[in-house]
Amino acid sequence: KKVAIIGASHGGHQSILELLTRYGKDVDITLFEAGDFISFMSCGMELYLQDKVTDVTDVRNFRPENFPQENVHILANHEVTQIDADNKKLTVVDHIKEATNEFTYDKLILSSGVTPNALPLPGKELENIFLMRGYDWARKIKAKLEDDSVQNVTVIGTGYIGIEAAQVFAEAGRNVTIIDVIDRPLGTYLDQEMTDILRAELEEHGVHVVTGAKISEFSGSTSVTAVKTDQGDFPSDLVIEAAGVKPNTAWLTGTVELDQRGWIVTDEYLRTNLPDVSAVGDATLALSIPAGKKMPIALATVARREARYVVEHLFEEKPNVPFKGVVGSSALSVFDYQFAATGLNEFSAGRAGIPLKTDFYQDTLRPKYVPVEQGNSDVYVKLAYDEQTHQLLGGAVLSKAAITAQGNTLALAVAQQLTLEDLADSDFFFQPGFDRQWSLLNLAAQHALGEEP
Ligand code: FAD
Repeated sequence: KKVAIIGASHGGHQSILELLTRYGKDVDITLFEAGDFISFMSCGMELYLQDKVTDVTDVRNFRPENFPQENVHILANHEVTQIDADNKKLTVVDHIKEATNEFTYDKLILSSGVTPNALPLPGKELENIFLMRGYDWARKIKAKLEDDSVQNVTVIGTGYIGIEAAQVFAEAGRNVTIIDVIDRPLGTYLDQEMTDILRAELEEHGVHVVTGAKISEFSGSTSVTAVKTDQGDFPSDLVIEAAGVKPNTAWLTGTVELDQRGWIVTDEYLRTNLPDVSAVGDATLALSIPAGKKMPIALATVARREARYVVEHLFEEKPNVPFKGVVGSSALSVFDYQFAATGLNEFSAGRAGIPLKTDFYQDTLRPKYVPVEQGNSDVYVKLAYDEQTHQLLGGAVLSKAAITAQGNTLALAVAQQLTLEDLADSDFFFQPGFDRQWSLLNLAAQHALGEEP
């Protein structure tokens, strides 16, 4: 059995692990990676930029030498340019030898991921306009952090990647402006009650937050000097673009079915239109359990769960179960706050056309007799649910206390399609060193049911 994998990131890595677990030596695995550096973990980029990792070359999912098995071949600098599905053959360009080779497979797993968008604006070719993904950009951003001539930094995009970039440069004492076309920072992850709190937190830490803005141009002669918008011009020695992504699928045009925006189309078994070719990860849309449909959920967690499912059923004619889907969960620190969000929110549900009702609950984590100095903290919970059935569709927790694990509890509730009533009296522990007589999520669900907790 010859299995080819394209892309050495989360989807590719998980595919190798699963193949070895399930088939051991009975499978021949070849992974093709177009890039030079195998499996940089962008999720760890913020920690690297903050000097909180052992070494940049350790910030990766795996090294080729982690797979010394004779039946595993990991080929960096090998870009796959074509699939010949009739003959089950790949065309592969070896960028080191500058040679083109052919490679046959029995099964093919695509995890070719995405590339950040470079906005097609006047001045886009100026120097010091950076993207934030992968090893090379990580090194370049780090060099700018260490360059004192870089004082004004403009970040485009207030998703979690943009917030990570803004935070790193603000902590390093730079003047940071973060710009978004939508009207709230982190507005695709959290509803307004929480983004209001985080906007204030960003501003308190010196980040200039500009929302609802239209960028018209990057100005400068050789290097960028300003970002022009309809809300003014922002002086910039460095621009970091974190405003959306495009799938790495142009090379598949005409062979693998793509949707209008270039995402790989997969069926309920994560199989493409080509026989024996599956696709996982950011280059595909993910089945959202609460939405009951596919939507963009670009997370490492999703790529890994999809790869696990694909390999489990790789050699079956037709799997007996479809991929069960994901909820899509993320967590982030924003200076002194941390949040975890899962499933749908008002923004993503609106986009997916899913009606939902929400409830915002605010309280203290521990009994009121515990003062803030002893670790008590304000906590905020947002729950999203179906108005008729009360099925939980999503939610978020936010606090200065360490409560992100409660986001995972909520993720489990959403995945298991529990209701507000289930969550309202789920049996969670009580110990005043950690929580209240009723735990935070119990209280939030009771509040959503109209009770006065
Ligand atoms: P990708 O990571 O996009 O990798 C695809 C790989 O395929 C690339 O290495 C590319 O070079 C290669 N490739 C593409 N085309 C070809 C070809 N034709 N031939 C050979 N090779 C090819 N997710 C989380 O869950 N938690 C986080 O905390 C988190 N933080 C993040 C922080 C940052 C800054 C960024 C950028 C992303 C973060 N993510 C996080 C998202 C996560 O990194 C992605 O969801 C995940 O990497 C997707 O994995 P993938 O396998 O689909 O593809």
